[in-house]
Amino acid sequence: MAELSGAQILAKSLKTQGVGELFGLVGLPIGPITVAVQREGMRYIGVRHEQAAAYAAQAAGYMNGRIGAAAVVSGPGMTNAITALGNAEANCWPMLLIAGSSSTELMERGDFQEAPQVQAAKPFVKWAGQAQDPRLIPHLVATAVRHAIGGRPGAVYLDMPGNIIDGKVEEDEVRWMERVPDPPRPEAADGDVAQALETLKSASNPLVVVGKGAAWAQAENEVREFIDKTGLPFLPMPMGKGVVPDDHPMNVSAARTNALKNTDVVFLIGARMNWMLHFGLPPRWRDDLRVIQLDIDAAEIGSSVPTEAPLVGDAQAVMGQLNAALDADPWQFEDGSEWRASLLAEAERKREQNAGFYQSDEMPMGYYRPLKILDDAMPRDAIFVCEGENTMGIARTVINSYEARARLDAGTWGTMGVGPGFALAAQVVNPDKRVVALEGDAAFGFGPAEVETAVRHELPITWVIFNNNGIGEGVEEIDRSKPIPPGVMTPNARYEKIIEAFGGKGYHCTTPDEVEAAIEDAFKQKGSTLINVAIAPKAMRRKQQFGWLTRH
Ligand code: ADP
Repeated sequence: MAELSGAQILAKSLKTQGVGELFGLVGLPIGPITVAVQREGMRYIGVRHEQAAAYAAQAAGYMNGRIGAAAVVSGPGMTNAITALGNAEANCWPMLLIAGSSSTELMERGDFQEAPQVQAAKPFVKWAGQAQDPRLIPHLVATAVRHAIGGRPGAVYLDMPGNIIDGKVEEDEVRWMERVPDPPRPEAADGDVAQALETLKSASNPLVVVGKGAAWAQAENEVREFIDKTGLPFLPMPMGKGVVPDDHPMNVSAARTNALKNTDVVFLIGARMNWMLHFGLPPRWRDDLRVIQLDIDAAEIGSSVPTEAPLVGDAQAVMGQLNAALDADPWQFEDGSEWRASLLAEAERKREQNAGFYQSDEMPMGYYRPLKILDDAMPRDAIFVCEGENTMGIARTVINSYEARARLDAGTWGTMGVGPGFALAAQVVNPDKRVVALEGDAAFGFGPAEVETAVRHELPITWVIFNNNGIGEGVEEIDRSKPIPPGVMTPNARYEKIIEAFGGKGYHCTTPDEVEAAIEDAFKQKGSTLINVAIAPKAMRRKQQFGWLTRH
């Protein structure tokens, strides 16, 4: 009977559990894991910083509907990935982080890169464990996967001591495991479905909010059918964009403030009443707001404000139940209602206002015109990765998404630095789709080395850097007679040269024509490209009644 190492058993277990590819950064003691993974026929994407591996793993899991995985070295390698664990938990995205650690016989002796890794991971994961016998690795991987994808998804952590990675055991002594079934799709109680519909029917100003929980649940067909059946106005959360295409006539995103402030009954589909929805509280919402809440996690129901009609279950299943109930007893929101007409009219007005910004000849350019050029050039099924402060906020209103899980951004944690890892995963999981990573210059600064990863792995990501010379705003020139303002970065940095260093194609654009030409050319290239768009250091978004982050 053949002998297998812990690394080989781990690789086979990952394959069995449906991990398509491993993102990682090699070094002691995980090298053998990456080799074993390649021998199993899986793709290994070696990145330049552990954060990118772990961000990529969670984006892969979110997009492939199962799980993504990353492998990092012990000590600093593992701690570099902890922020990404927190981000996956905050976003409710499934991922497995594997880290090498000290061999068990050397623990607590000051071993190379020794660290309390399981303890460090714990606050940021749903489950954390350590392999202590190579024969039990399949069991641990299956346990990790069950926790990551079951119920509300999240991060899990598997600690792999060096001697367990290298340890050899007889193949027939290994406790092999079957593939963990995909998560069940629990339905809501029939009475709750009826109650939710009654609550909706009693509303004068109803609003549907579509969150990224609906996207993860792959509920796009059901949610679209529901909106079409009921004629209800809806508002996508940033990563809920595309579950229903942004150009759907009932989309009232452009009238967001008014919609939130005046709705009397909101139906949350896989979206939490957290800071992104202003906690469901005045002044952003009515104080007599009534809530219908669909979530897989019962503990989320009523988490900030009371929920009148809870729907605990999977978004795809429960939206299917609602549609079936509407088939049996059809109901449509009053066609000529003042509420819907006023929201749609306001949305139209805002779109017209934006049209002025889209044509602006202002030089240096602001945000709106180059964003619109990008939006017009992107195919409908493009995957759009986006981060930055103004860049992300403004892009949310300009760049449309038409498919579910086609927009990845700084998310619930507002984490800067996620973009490069997300973009790598987006292109690996969707090799035939156009992936555009729009990065504010400050956000890009967290992980520019991943451009090399994209070039090396022939991932044709189009990186677009919106360069305003700083965080929030920059300056045209640094005044050396004074302290440098804290948010200022080197003016007019030539970020496109970064990709040129690795053999990719770079563009530097200062005018709308140059932006248009660069995007057109970049989309024809086989490899990765980087477009550096110089915008006004003081460019701003148009005035808003409430900022996105409103302090109470
Ligand atoms: P957004 O930021 O888009 O508003 P959130 O991340 O706040 O979305 O909320 C997502 C919600 O979706 C979480 O509360 C999570 O429990 C829930 N969720 C996750 N998976 C499912 C599912 N399969 N069905 C329904 N809800 C889900």
